[in-house]
Amino acid sequence: MRKCPKCKARLSPFYFKTTCKYCDTDLLYYNFDERLEQDAQKAAAQEEKIRQLLNKLPFRKNKQ
Ligand SMILES: [Zn+2]
Repeated sequence: MRKCPKCKARLSPFYFKTTCKYCDTDLLYYNFDERLEQDAQKAAAQEEKIRQLLNKLPFRKNKQ
């Protein structure tokens, strides 16, 4: 059962509109910013790992 993230109304699994029929919230993009933020944090963590890995390589040490 799908639920509206804002008003918690139950929506039929066969209800395919992207907005809640009760409160008109956009179901696809509600919390979208939050998800973007999480993705950004993951990406930053990944980048940090790669940077640490690169710092272990000898050719990087010579340049810096
Ligand atoms: Zn709703």
